[in-house]
Amino acid sequence: MATEEEILLFHDQDYVRLVKRNSEKGGGLLDMGDTPAFKGCYEATSLVVGASLQACDLIMGDQYTHAFNPSGGLHHAHSDRASGFCIFNDPAISIAYLKRKYDLKRLVYLDIDAHHGDGVMYGFYDDPAVLDIDFHENGRYIFPGTGYPDETGSGPAKGLKVNIPLLPGSGDEAFLEGFESIVPPLVRKHHPEAILVQCGADGHDGDLLAHLRLTTHTYQEVVGTMHELAHELCHGRLLLLGGGGYTLANVPRVWTLAFASLAGKVPDDSIPKQWATIFEKSTGEAAPKKLFDIPTEGESDKSLEEVESVLMQLDREIGWKPSGV
Ligand SMILES: [Zn+2]
Ligand SMILES: [Zn+2]
Repeated sequence: MATEEEILLFHDQDYVRLVKRNSEKGGGLLDMGDTPAFKGCYEATSLVVGASLQACDLIMGDQYTHAFNPSGGLHHAHSDRASGFCIFNDPAISIAYLKRKYDLKRLVYLDIDAHHGDGVMYGFYDDPAVLDIDFHENGRYIFPGTGYPDETGSGPAKGLKVNIPLLPGSGDEAFLEGFESIVPPLVRKHHPEAILVQCGADGHDGDLLAHLRLTTHTYQEVVGTMHELAHELCHGRLLLLGGGGYTLANVPRVWTLAFASLAGKVPDDSIPKQWATIFEKSTGEAAPKKLFDIPTEGESDKSLEEVESVLMQLDREIGWKPSGV
């Protein structure tokens, strides 16, 4: 479990006290929206943060290069308030922890959750140590309503916060067009000492809350590319975090394949019978039949044109294109 001192690396004292008080009492909400203050929520969310910080220690040590905390990725919490089911922001605390404990000067945070990772982005908006790249469904259509291409960071961090909003209905082709164009050159230019990836599964086709149409193919590509970049640039140091994901049959498939990609394995397409039985018992939903999806078909021209226009706007804002391209 993370200590209070560790949580205070990112969060304000008054807010931490508020969470503690509500956690002892139990009931009600922590924000104006949808973050429940259930009994023991302080301990529960501190456990998530503790797992992410332990993962930080693992990747910074000699024995491991990569770590995955599927319970992490609670990217909406701000320093002074809860938001979007997130109480303490474990990615933000992890970034502050890596800077403090290991004196890291250059970090990459990639966020592919369907929702904008606002707590992390605005938490480090003027911090030049953090290159934050965030792909999400356009905030005109979904919570939290932020994350536009003209939000590029402030002061010494100008140009280091990068938002790629996608139209509802965007699938693998539109996503990967944006990802493959802009992510490798920006990450190489920043030359990080460690990479964090928030791998929310709610951009998956058929998610109950969001409206993107990504398949397992995109998650494999994204994690595979970040894995290669980590080996190329920072001794393999890569911390993978979970995030959103509201269609229960999809989330474990997405994260299994993300993790397999990090481990350099390609699993077969079958779903273990024993797992399917436990899944159906505990969720009351039908278990998935296969591990892999067929990549999105029928990408709309509109989704592709939107990504191209965002890439052009970003080039005007931050000049991301390598010279000669
Ligand atoms: Zn590796
Ligand atoms: Zn989300």
